Amino acid sequence: MIAVIGAGISGLSCAWWLHRAGQQVELFEATSHVGGKVDTVSEEGVQFETGPNTLLLNDAQSEWLSSMGLTLVPATRLSRQRFVLQGGRYRSLPSDPLSFLFSSLLSASAKRAVLVEPWLRNAPLEPHETVAAFFRRRLGQEWLDMLVAPFVAGVFAGDPETLLMEECLPLMLKVERRSGSLVKGMMRHVLAGKLARKTPYSLAGGLISLPTALASGLSLQRNSPVERLEREGSGWRLQCASASYYADEVVLSVPADEAARLLGEHWPELSSALAQIPYSPMSLVVSLGARDDMTRPLRGFGGLNPVCETPFAAGHLMGGDMFPDRCDDDDYLIVSYVGGSLFRQHHDLPDRELLEGTNEELRDVFGLTRPVRRQWLVRHQRALPQGTAAMVDVRKHLAALDGTGLHVCANWLDGVSVSDCLAKGEALASRLLRRPLHA
Ligand SMILES: Cc1cc2nc3c(=O)[nH]c(=O)nc-3n(C[C@H](O)[C@H](O)[C@H](O)COP(=O)(O)OP(=O)(O)OC[C@H]3O[C@@H](n4cnc5c(N)ncnc54)[C@H](O)[C@@H]3O)c2cc1C
Repeated sequence: MIAVIGAGISGLSCAWWLHRAGQQVELFEATSHVGGKVDTVSEEGVQFETGPNTLLLNDAQSEWLSSMGLTLVPATRLSRQRFVLQGGRYRSLPSDPLSFLFSSLLSASAKRAVLVEPWLRNAPLEPHETVAAFFRRRLGQEWLDMLVAPFVAGVFAGDPETLLMEECLPLMLKVERRSGSLVKGMMRHVLAGKLARKTPYSLAGGLISLPTALASGLSLQRNSPVERLEREGSGWRLQCASASYYADEVVLSVPADEAARLLGEHWPELSSALAQIPYSPMSLVVSLGARDDMTRPLRGFGGLNPVCETPFAAGHLMGGDMFPDRCDDDDYLIVSYVGGSLFRQHHDLPDRELLEGTNEELRDVFGLTRPVRRQWLVRHQRALPQGTAAMVDVRKHLAALDGTGLHVCANWLDGVSVSDCLAKGEALASRLLRRPLHA
């Protein structure tokens, strides 16, 4: 039997592929909820996601999800329009590299930086370069402040001063190392059609439909946290509160602190490296109100807030513009992201102050004339793992698991997106299926 610990998207994907190949697989989940960070709230004609909001899938994944009976819902064309806060107002973000050069978002010297970048011959100062150091070196501070940092805050809830390029933006790093220029290398990728813009998707019924579909047919034990792993013969014994189970192979699909705890007595060095992986907190404030109350509406995907603007939230998504069936046509549905590494102090405020801060910003930037009609607050104390220097040590010690029958498939290694987690689950399952069970 193969045991998969953790029924988030990573564990579910791996278990689904193993099960489909006829492998005996048992999935253990600590809580009653299946899907980990993925969950959808549907009430009183309103629908919103409390975890991931959209999926960026490759073609094979779209086909896979459709073949499971899921209905992919593409984001509207309107949501191609993205914004960035500048001078207290949202400015449209150019959608292609050429229009950046004509946009008033960047100064003349920042635009010049793009043109001279291909001729720069400045090597990185550190072997493990941070995102901030990389972009400062190649394009300068303005690019970092206005575009890269808000993007990194939006995708990883992270701080570019601590996130590593190799962990978060490995393609850009590879391109620059290979061709000596980020701009030239990325242009080559664009021209070769390797960077075609992906459509963001949701699913009919919300993203919760994905874990529900993956779990159907699987042997799944809810409310069954695995408390200990013990070696037994060539396999492992999983200790849960009320029973224990023997597994030939074990897949760990749990957050890094849980992996550290479970591995502690066997691999103390790997365990202490895992315990060092920082997580960013994130709160979501979901606000519903009448569109007519917005004197400065933002029609599109949403807006990112650079730290230099001293905003309260990291950004706001226009849920209703992206997927119109999320609320009444006459209403707006804004999802505000408060927290991440850059805005941790706002996340840590008591609920009332957090909501006040968000509402004040909503009034300022969207020109709301009346208070929001309904509001929900969702807190994630440990939202997203951060690909910082701690990962260098983790990667060094992970080799200790080779040949032990223990495998890792989780969002703290090799990509946090749902699409990455789906892909890693599939890849690990096919590796496990290609070889005889651990002996
Ligand atoms: C607010 C937010 C917004 C996001 N937005 C997006 C987005 O728009 N698009 C996107 O692609 N991604 C997004 N992400 C990232 C993505 O949702 C996650 O990285 C991904 O869902 C993580 O999946 P996972 O299975 O690796 O981990 P998790 O979802 O954390 O699942 C781990 C599971 O392990 C279980 N577990 C823990 N310990 C034990 C134990 N001892 N025994 C048994 N079970 C255990 C947990 O209960 C949990 O169910 C977002 C994440 C957050 C938090």
